[in-house]
Amino acid sequence: MTLPQIDCAFPGGNIKVERLEPGVAVLRQDRRDTTCWWFHWAFRIQAAAGQMWRFELVDGDAVGTRGPACSLDGGTTWFWLGRECVETTSAGVAFSYRFPEDAGEVRFAFAMPYLQTDLEMFLANQPQIERQVLCHSRQGREVELLRLPCTGGDPAWRVVLAARHHCCESVANWVMEGMLAAALAPTAVGGWWRQRAEFLAVPFVDKDGVENGDQGKCRHPFDHGRDYADGRAPLYPETGALAQRLVAWAAATPVIAFDLHCPWIRGQWNEQVYMVGSSRPETAAAQARFANLLAATNHTGWDYRSDDFLAHGQSWNTAANYRDGKGFARFAAEQPGVAFATSFEIPYANVRGQTVCPEDARAFGHAIVAALRIFADTEGTQA
Ligand SMILES: [Zn+2]
Repeated sequence: MTLPQIDCAFPGGNIKVERLEPGVAVLRQDRRDTTCWWFHWAFRIQAAAGQMWRFELVDGDAVGTRGPACSLDGGTTWFWLGRECVETTSAGVAFSYRFPEDAGEVRFAFAMPYLQTDLEMFLANQPQIERQVLCHSRQGREVELLRLPCTGGDPAWRVVLAARHHCCESVANWVMEGMLAAALAPTAVGGWWRQRAEFLAVPFVDKDGVENGDQGKCRHPFDHGRDYADGRAPLYPETGALAQRLVAWAAATPVIAFDLHCPWIRGQWNEQVYMVGSSRPETAAAQARFANLLAATNHTGWDYRSDDFLAHGQSWNTAANYRDGKGFARFAAEQPGVAFATSFEIPYANVRGQTVCPEDARAFGHAIVAALRIFADTEGTQA
């Protein structure tokens, strides 16, 4: 029997093949320069049509609450395999899969990926979004800065969105797509925003990490999400460029900034959307007001409650977590002219019983922007 080929030589790929025998693959996520245990992996397998296979991940329980994500069309569309095929093992976790008789390349991943190709598809359908270059990554890639101009003259607001400070956190990008689409939509909300605001978005802050398939979380010596620090220059070109732009934008126009993330793999807080509470009392108070508004106005499939807000000092959200540096939301909140800044954690697979899919994540992005309209309207005079 010729063994099929397993590899990760494609954008976003990440796997180490330890052993391959008929029907069994022993694998582990490639943590690369991650200094902590993390769970991102993505691989493809070819020529296993009709066969039953067991995939053993031997570096901890790196399968999430809806099982692995799977694609039968080269990574264009994805579905969850569910937990029925998953069992925990002494070394980690394993899942089994019977390949369809007509299967070609099949991809499996910890979560549904969002890569350059996904962004290109989104932008192809949104010609009003201008594409600029924030900077070049260390590996020479263009880091996109998306701009949605204000049609009403000088903007009263700038809404700044960032995703992938931690490059494996893919679900954040569908929420970002929804937020941008909401501002472009032929709706009262869209019209309100287009008249008053310019939207600016950096979809891939850790650009190289996204395409290389890195975990990106706890990257040595620190990751992009901790690269905003007092007393030292930024390590990464993307965070340095974004910090500089943000200061300039806020000097001209009140800014609202969102930093979109995905949380831990499972468990309390990680199977619900939540805001990460700021240690700045005035920012935390604004977050609480926004949480109330969003909870009252959100009617999407994702349940969001006014206490889906992890106050500073609780759980992982303590000073110790920011020893290496600040996140973007905290940095933004401290800048003069920034009216509101927050980060959001968007689960990989489960939002209070609702299985995560791109459509629901986009819908939630719309809900954020609708709530933000009321927020900006009522807080505008305070900016
Ligand atoms: Zn993150």
